[in-house]
Amino acid sequence: MSLSRHLLLRASRSPWLARQLSERAFFRRAVRRFMPGEDLDAALAAAADLARDGIGSVLTQLGEQVTSRDEAAGVRDHYLRVLEEIRRRELPTEISVKLTHLGLDLNPRACLQDLLALAARAAAAGSFLWIDMEESRYVDATLELFQAVRAAHTGVGVCLQAYLRRTPTDLEALLPLGPAIRLVKGAYNEAPGVALPKKRDVDAAYAVLAGQLLERAAQGEARAVFGTHDVGLIARLRERALAVGAAPGAYEVHMLYGIRVAEQRALQSEGVPVRVLISYGTHWFPWYIRRLAERPANVWFVVRHVLG
Ligand SMILES: Cc1cc2nc3c(=O)[nH]c(=O)nc-3n(C[C@H](O)[C@H](O)[C@H](O)COP(=O)(O)OP(=O)(O)OC[C@H]3O[C@@H](n4cnc5c(N)ncnc54)[C@H](O)[C@@H]3O)c2cc1C
Repeated sequence: MSLSRHLLLRASRSPWLARQLSERAFFRRAVRRFMPGEDLDAALAAAADLARDGIGSVLTQLGEQVTSRDEAAGVRDHYLRVLEEIRRRELPTEISVKLTHLGLDLNPRACLQDLLALAARAAAAGSFLWIDMEESRYVDATLELFQAVRAAHTGVGVCLQAYLRRTPTDLEALLPLGPAIRLVKGAYNEAPGVALPKKRDVDAAYAVLAGQLLERAAQGEARAVFGTHDVGLIARLRERALAVGAAPGAYEVHMLYGIRVAEQRALQSEGVPVRVLISYGTHWFPWYIRRLAERPANVWFVVRHVLG
């Protein structure tokens, strides 16, 4: 991992830096590149705009590692409202949640109950519930809760991170469920014993895992979602899909709001379903720094705002 990425990922965990930077006007302006606004209405409006162009979306309220059950219950209630709005506005929109935002650290059983309530509401709204993957210490609990919810509802999927050394085994264990999997490279600061430290190894691991998912998707045995902006990788996956008989509509590409917008539209127009993950909320600091870490050029984007 590059030094700048390592330092940025460490910075993302600093409450001091979060306090220092979050109120600065230049920083708030820079964040707008990746976020239509802090409140739900802005996110729903962006989802409606995308829908007019035939592009689906996934909404996620920023936040993680809440410290009280009341906060977690507030997050659950918020997402229940989001699903109600999706239903009412007839949006092609799904939601994605972080389990530590729903109190996983405090009470895994209560977290499971909240997930079950969200999955039921998502089904009623014609929507879908995604579960994000956080740091490696949460993977066991996340997969356990995912499987528990999946046993009761089909409209739930989970994210897997290609950089983790354990992911091939996790994918193998999940495939018999006919699961919905969103495969990403992985965004956190992990030890080399846990996650592949070299980007080219992560890219290679991603291609192998994606190939397995594509084969299942071709048989209608998985919902395969590629959460990536790596257009070279996507092009290779599309060739692989053709080779295993997976039609363009048999897999999806999900990208983050504001990144690779032209490619999002091009893929959609070529028959590959695209969804855009729209984040919103006031707790954007750690999330935004992870976005900077993914592409050092983004740091210059911020610096230009400071100078400009
Ligand atoms: C829909 C979605 C859901 C995700 N969910 C999770 C999750 O639950 N858990 C998790 O750990 N990670 C998650 N991630 C983040 C993921 O792990 C990567 O950190 C992120 O997607 C960057 O990797 P990449 O696959 O785009 O490829 P990279 O090889 O990092 O990037 C490929 C190219 O895409 C462009 N690009 C990538 N990132 C940025 C950026 N931030 N700004 C501008 N351009 C960029 C650049 O041009 C870059 O060269 C998610 C990503 C997406 C798209």
